[in-house]
Amino acid sequence: MKRKKIVAGNWKMNGTYDDACKLTSEIVAMAKDELNGNTVVILAPPFPFIPTVNKLTEQTNIKISAQNCSSENSGAFTGEVSAAMIASCGAAYVIIGHSERRTIFKEQDDLLLKKVQMALANNLSVIFCIGETKEQREQAIHFKVAEEQLNNSIFKLSADEFSKCIIAYEPVWAIGTGLTATPAQAQEMHHYIRGCIAKSFTPQVAEQCSLLYGGSCNESNAAELFALEDIDGGLIGGASLKSRSFVNIIKSMKD
Ligand code: PEP
Repeated sequence: MKRKKIVAGNWKMNGTYDDACKLTSEIVAMAKDELNGNTVVILAPPFPFIPTVNKLTEQTNIKISAQNCSSENSGAFTGEVSAAMIASCGAAYVIIGHSERRTIFKEQDDLLLKKVQMALANNLSVIFCIGETKEQREQAIHFKVAEEQLNNSIFKLSADEFSKCIIAYEPVWAIGTGLTATPAQAQEMHHYIRGCIAKSFTPQVAEQCSLLYGGSCNESNAAELFALEDIDGGLIGGASLKSRSFVNIIKSMKD
């Protein structure tokens, strides 16, 4: 079985309700021909817009993701949003471990693992983000950092649970900075991650796992990155807020 090709747009905390409707409608209209192909297109709007974005995309193959979820099931956790709530609004995925959650909100590996388990228990697939900082790359410990992030979190899942996870390698120094990993740097890290999966699970599990690149991926560099052997798509931030750019990124994916 071929690995799933995926292009996911992470809208972060941007836009109003009207902006979300406009962006979704434009993407649906422009990408009509692409959306029934082999690429899975995922939109990750802010929580309040999930039901509407889901409704606007219901005639398409577009899937919806949340950008985070609570590690708790329900109860007195003011401001939190549970995996069950997200699933009940029509989302199929949730992003967990984004570097902004790790750095700004101090989310650590053990909490992230709890969130992943909660997501899976509610039938959400997980886009799990890992990646090194600029300092860690300069110290040449980027492989070790990525492996530890995986060992301390989703490598503790069973192989069956892990098969519902997608990994996004997002070098922190490339997120929102306009700096992109070179194709060689990206391929090298994706290949390394696939090797870590094979070591922790089996080569077959590793072969099936979709690995996305994130970090200033845009319509100019997507085709080159997506053509690499171990890169199965992208997690797109800034460029996913412009319908034309995002659709061009989807079009960069070759089967
Ligand atoms: C992201 O935050 O997941 C991301 C990849 O952002 P950007 O594309 O803006 O670097």
